[in-house]
Amino acid sequence: MADQLTFTDPVTRFPEITPPKQHQPEPGLDAELIPGTDRGEESYRGTGRLEGRRALLTGADSGIGAAVAIAFAREGADVALNYLPQEEQDAQHIAEVIRAEGRAAVLLPGDLADAAFCRRLVADAVEGLGGLDALVNNAGRQIAVDSLEEIDDEQWESTFAVNIHAMFRIARAALAHLVPGSTIVNTTSIQAYQPSPTLVDYASTKAAINTFTKGLAQQVASRGIRVNAVAPGPIWTPLQVSDGQPKEALPEFGKSTPLGRAGQPTELAPAYVFLTSSESSYVLGETLAVTGGSPTP
Ligand code: NAD
Ligand code: MG
Repeated sequence: MADQLTFTDPVTRFPEITPPKQHQPEPGLDAELIPGTDRGEESYRGTGRLEGRRALLTGADSGIGAAVAIAFAREGADVALNYLPQEEQDAQHIAEVIRAEGRAAVLLPGDLADAAFCRRLVADAVEGLGGLDALVNNAGRQIAVDSLEEIDDEQWESTFAVNIHAMFRIARAALAHLVPGSTIVNTTSIQAYQPSPTLVDYASTKAAINTFTKGLAQQVASRGIRVNAVAPGPIWTPLQVSDGQPKEALPEFGKSTPLGRAGQPTELAPAYVFLTSSESSYVLGETLAVTGGSPTP
């Protein structure tokens, strides 16, 4: 079976997809996504780059977060997974893959829009893993609408609550536990640089995540803690069918990138592994773009 290290043409590495129009209620399930995605179950090979690490990942049940969780486990880390209670089915699948590697999977469902839960999440991850030296802030909320007038206060505030406030609260709580060598990786987006007119609120949070990352990275560098970000381009995940994109846009999703296709979640995993592993010891405050070639500044 080919894995991420097999020499391959990036244009044809995965079967071509033209997703049919479809809709799932938020937050959406990988189990019901058509077509399904590659999260690395059969295609990610570990090479010992995160041996003994203890990582907390948000949004780890599906999509990019699930692919990162699998990769971290294959690289030798124990992982704590946060997701929404409605996503238990996806989370159980990922936990099974992780446990099959002989690594721990600590399941911590809960709503990141709740400030008290964010605090408890870090405490529970530390307890479940016996410590914490890696944090991946990956949960995100994306609801496409045609006009600013259609963004009510509730949507505006909940997008910021999940994408920005939770990242801040979790990072703040985690710092008390992170020893020198530890890492934080945040998840921004191509939307930080090329905002879609339908994603004004979401794109604004992604720009803020970039700036937060670059500021915090300088602040905690002397403590030996590295903070970086990953900026995905169009990746085929449940986010896109739970109102993340207008339904009409789904069949063409990702096809306007230079590579001509959407990315698969597992293609993001090596970026998170690199930024979490000590091999990136001189990389701080960086945003690593994984966009299929769409240019970023
Ligand atoms: P996804 O739907 O698989 O993951 C998003 C996750 O966010 C969900 O699984 C859910 O667990 C979590 N989440 C949402 N609201 C939450 C809440 N209130 N409390 C707790 N968890 C909550 O989709 P994905 O595309 O893998 O998204 C992962 C990250 O990647 C997001 O930050 C997203 O903005 C970012 N991203 C995705 C793309 C893309 O094209 N898919 C592009 C750029 C950035
Ligand atoms: Mg999910």
